[in-house]
Amino acid sequence: MSSTCSSIKTTDKNGDLSFINTEATQWRDIPQKEIEYAEKEETIFLSGGLTLLQDKLVEAALNSMGINFIALSNPTFESFQKGKAYGNRGQCNPTYFTVGNLVKYLQNLRDEKGLSTEEIVKKYVYITAGGCGPCRFGMYITEYKKALRDAGFDGFRLTSFEHDKGIFQGDDIDKNILNFSPRFFITLIKSVLIGDIINILTYKMRPYEIEKGSVNKAIEKCKEIITQAFLNHTSLINAMWRCRSVLETVKLNRLQPKAKVMVMGEFWAAMTEGDGNYNLHKFLEAEGAECIPQPIINRLMLSLWEAEQALKNREQLEVENSKKVDFSNVKTRVLIKAGKTAIKTHFSLYAKAIGLHDYEIPDMDELAKLAKEYYTLECSGGEGHLEVAHLIESVKHNLAHLVISIKPFGCMPSSAVSDGVQSLVTSRYPQANFLSIETSGEGAANFYSRVQMALFKAKLLAKEEFEALRYAGLTPYQMEKLNNYLYQPKSEKAGTAVQLIFSLR
Ligand code: SF4
Repeated sequence: MSSTCSSIKTTDKNGDLSFINTEATQWRDIPQKEIEYAEKEETIFLSGGLTLLQDKLVEAALNSMGINFIALSNPTFESFQKGKAYGNRGQCNPTYFTVGNLVKYLQNLRDEKGLSTEEIVKKYVYITAGGCGPCRFGMYITEYKKALRDAGFDGFRLTSFEHDKGIFQGDDIDKNILNFSPRFFITLIKSVLIGDIINILTYKMRPYEIEKGSVNKAIEKCKEIITQAFLNHTSLINAMWRCRSVLETVKLNRLQPKAKVMVMGEFWAAMTEGDGNYNLHKFLEAEGAECIPQPIINRLMLSLWEAEQALKNREQLEVENSKKVDFSNVKTRVLIKAGKTAIKTHFSLYAKAIGLHDYEIPDMDELAKLAKEYYTLECSGGEGHLEVAHLIESVKHNLAHLVISIKPFGCMPSSAVSDGVQSLVTSRYPQANFLSIETSGEGAANFYSRVQMALFKAKLLAKEEFEALRYAGLTPYQMEKLNNYLYQPKSEKAGTAVQLIFSLR
């Protein structure tokens, strides 16, 4: 907690001015004028920054509970520049993009829609992710406030989503404005999981579409079906089942040797689909690759795993100090277990309904075992040990021809810690084709050329793998089977085309 002191002016014997601190008081980031905020019914919530699909599904999910929520559009380079203009120096790239995006939206309300600044500050609230760090993440709320104040929106309300606690906790917001009931969290998580599943399928299908744009068109229809299911309170499983018939109409040619690229790294940089990572996914697909995205369920499972480890450590200390059993620990354990089961069950049900068969929810204990030798598991922040674990897993199980770890410029856990460790991993696994790359919102040419160089090697690998197993004489029936997205055979090969042909042996 920061505190501030009142001080008195004094001069020393040389006549130099100095200040003596007197009484210390609690420092609070409060608006200069008292503001009478709007009532719950008139309050409008804003957020954004997930994938394009997930932002929209979250909007539908929260609207279905009567919450007046608007998902902001994807942050652009213009958002980044606004973030830089109003933010502190040395912030993380995701903050520049997301706070700049918020400022852009509010300025548009003021300058284009004609709302007064007072009205905007009274009525709107922004929901963002927060936490105690240990990196610059812990400063996000303060950074948002600074940028908003300097952009002319002093007193604008923010509430933060405590990613490591799995609950929303109001900062300076009136907690009565949002009802953080279990229903609220369950509905929100459902929308995120459904978004994950559809995104995974999109990235599996789009590189192989015969008619350009057909996958995106089908995904738009699926988005509409799921949105209506949320708004009308009808079965989401049925909705996912209906999406299956939409996706089945898309014609694919999956027998093309394409480089498979796992995109991982810092959560936001790896997930966003826009200028925030120079449109990395789009760029890779345009260059003839297939992406493996990092779904948000990975981050949820990591948070639960971290909470479980913290609990184990606490219990261990209590045993060592011969303390009595603390029943709050039992409650926490039950909640973590229930959380894990609920996430896995919902994910599996929705995945089955739409036809995603081959995705395995990451086993956090297994990933921790892989990373343990290289990365101190107690060292949290960012993705913790996960980046190291993903690279080792990808090499051991031949999951991709290239692994890209993308992170904002100077990201403490990702650039400073994980990448340092990855040099040891790549020296022990020389077959790894690994590229660590930073984004700063500028310097796109350098970024693309580094990706292209690593991708060149990945394409050769994909081609070699394919040539070694060239297919011949497939019957029309076999061709049809292999090009159906519902056919997802398991294989020790990385490339999709090779996996399919290999499955016929
Ligand atoms: S993980 Fe990296 S980008 Fe994210 S808040 Fe921490 S330092 Fe910034």
